[in-house]
Amino acid sequence: MKDNLSLAAEKISNSSFTLAFTGAGISVESGIPPFRGETGLWNKYDPDILEINYFYNHGEESWGVIRDIFYDFFGLASPNPGHYALAKMEELGYLHAIVTQNIDNLHQMAGSKNIAEFHGNSSRLICPECHTVYPVTAVDLSILPPRCHNDQQILKPDFVFFGEGIPAEAWDRSFDYADRCQVCLVIGSTGEVVPASYVPQKASQKGAFIIEINPEESQFTRSITNLHLRGKAGEILPKLLEKLVEN
Ligand code: NAD
Repeated sequence: MKDNLSLAAEKISNSSFTLAFTGAGISVESGIPPFRGETGLWNKYDPDILEINYFYNHGEESWGVIRDIFYDFFGLASPNPGHYALAKMEELGYLHAIVTQNIDNLHQMAGSKNIAEFHGNSSRLICPECHTVYPVTAVDLSILPPRCHNDQQILKPDFVFFGEGIPAEAWDRSFDYADRCQVCLVIGSTGEVVPASYVPQKASQKGAFIIEINPEESQFTRSITNLHLRGKAGEILPKLLEKLVEN
């Protein structure tokens, strides 16, 4: 009988379109905690700070916390072996797209190319008024709040706040990939965040084989997962890559 890793590699090798759906778990080994659970960010910070109307009404106050979490702290993180393994899988033609819930830019830093940013990306700031986009590296965050050069509006991180919609382009691409994929890797996600969790659910409905990588069980494990590779993404993904190359 085949071991689980060999079975996963075989499914991926035989698939003409493989999608990876990633959540906060893939970045845990880069030092970024998830939002939920014992070590989660919501035990330390009030999630209201990321509610869109709160931000518009209390921009200056919100920015103090936003800078703490997403720029002083996330900004120090770098990709881990899990991110690099996915980038290599894409380069070698085993992986065709990533739909990520993460906003930390680590897939991009690792070299992955075809990424649908379902919840946006913290590496950009956007003016809510004129929609000018600024790379965060071009903005001086020592003076808060950062303001648009055109109209002096308070800039917003270009990720999805609570109460905001999913960017249309990312939505369309994500569900198109879910429609087309034959294998979907679900990595480090509880499946509790909607509508993001509809992406792997759609893939499953359309007949994709679901391979989950997570040290714990999730809502996916109990519903759509066909094969659970139980463990850390930074350990399992490099082993999976090795198997693929070996075959
Ligand atoms: P989550 O916080 O709900 O769950 C994290 C999951 O990762 C859990 O199932 C956990 O068992 C698993 N996990 C923990 N360590 C792991 C490891 N080493 N390898 C693989 N899996 C591991 O995450 P979520 O479902 O993605 O939802 C949280 C939402 O918050 C996301 O939509 C995301 O936008 C956002 N978020 C993003 C970041 C980031 O950008 N890095 C961080 C925190 C939260």
